[in-house]
Amino acid sequence: MINNIESDATKLWEELGGYIPANPVKLANSFRIDVCSAELKDGLVGGIVKDNETDKVKIYLPKNEPIYNQRFIIAHQMGHYFYHMIDKKKGFCDTSNYLSNNKSIEKEANLFAAAFLMNKKYFIECWSKYKSIPILSKIFGVSWGKIKYRLGLLCIQN
Ligand SMILES: [Zn+2]
Repeated sequence: MINNIESDATKLWEELGGYIPANPVKLANSFRIDVCSAELKDGLVGGIVKDNETDKVKIYLPKNEPIYNQRFIIAHQMGHYFYHMIDKKKGFCDTSNYLSNNKSIEKEANLFAAAFLMNKKYFIECWSKYKSIPILSKIFGVSWGKIKYRLGLLCIQN
């Protein structure tokens, strides 16, 4: 599963032109999924919901979330969309601890988001060149924490 997620995400990123920073909104839109900001219940940082009647899928984000977080959360929801929204499952929502959540579906969604936003090959190249979390954070448009998470996934010491 883990290798598949990495290669699925790479393929989708390449199909969208292979740009850095990657565009998770464009990814969602290419699957006819809208990204909306909304007043979410306390503690929620994002969700993906399928409307029962129309089958239309929407991703919801809180209004005040910093842009770097929004980008990762959108890509995380797309991970749920690709791997977990099957059969009767109508949606998912996430609280702020999603990155450290040990449930396998959360790990898979995070792995998808990391692989889509931080293309493996390019990420390794950038890390060997700069060895700097702040610089990579700017290049990939994700928070320092997500850069550290990606380094961990790739077993790179920082
Ligand atoms: Zn999640």
